[in-house]
Amino acid sequence: MTAAAAMPCTLFISDLHLDPERPAITALFLDLLATRGRYADALYILGDLFEAWIGDDDDSELNQAVCRELSGCADSGTTVFVMHGNRDFLLGKRFAQQAHCVMLDDPARIDLYGTPTLLMHGDLLCTDDTEYQAFRTLARSAAWQEELLAKTLAERRAIAEEMRRVSREKTGGKPESIMDVNPAAVIGHMTGHGVTRLIHGHTHRPAVHDLVIEGKAAQRIVLGDWYEQGSMLECTPAGCELQVLNARQAS
Ligand code: MN
Repeated sequence: MTAAAAMPCTLFISDLHLDPERPAITALFLDLLATRGRYADALYILGDLFEAWIGDDDDSELNQAVCRELSGCADSGTTVFVMHGNRDFLLGKRFAQQAHCVMLDDPARIDLYGTPTLLMHGDLLCTDDTEYQAFRTLARSAAWQEELLAKTLAERRAIAEEMRRVSREKTGGKPESIMDVNPAAVIGHMTGHGVTRLIHGHTHRPAVHDLVIEGKAAQRIVLGDWYEQGSMLECTPAGCELQVLNARQAS
């Protein structure tokens, strides 16, 4: 074991948007699970691990490979936590069992080496997008999910495609509606949970924002997306560092 491996560390990632159309990003993630992921105390995946998740019964090649490597990382001793995003909010119990992951509520408050820290996907902070917030409430209801999951996989695949098409149209050809967080919502969640650090993704605007909340120094750390490269936050008892992970060029 190396000295680096003995240092306690916790990893945070989000917005991988894993998709069969971007195999280099899937390879980068599977490589992380087989290497640095195994030396961490915990790996937190804060939403949108998958570009789409239409139900735990969808055993596509990609889903099977990801579940297999997640379980391998978890079995090595790393606790792997998964939070729902706005793309993969249907991740369920069967996925968690197969991947040996622990599903995490949004928001979730943890003690990160002595610093009270709030974890969120980030979509809840985008309160200015009222149309999306209304859809979010509907899509998280048990009745709506049960009705959707009662449909065949082919029907659900078609619905997911249609939802993505409408979303693309609404955002003027952009791949995803990217709105930034509402500052008052950030302060509200952080004070409400009594934390000085917030870690979230969703906006695809990786950064470390220094804040002052009720006279105390605080931080909002935003994880980046995995469209062109990987983004990961590594935290140790000494502090947190936002890192870029480079995908291997396809040959
Ligand atoms: Mn998102």
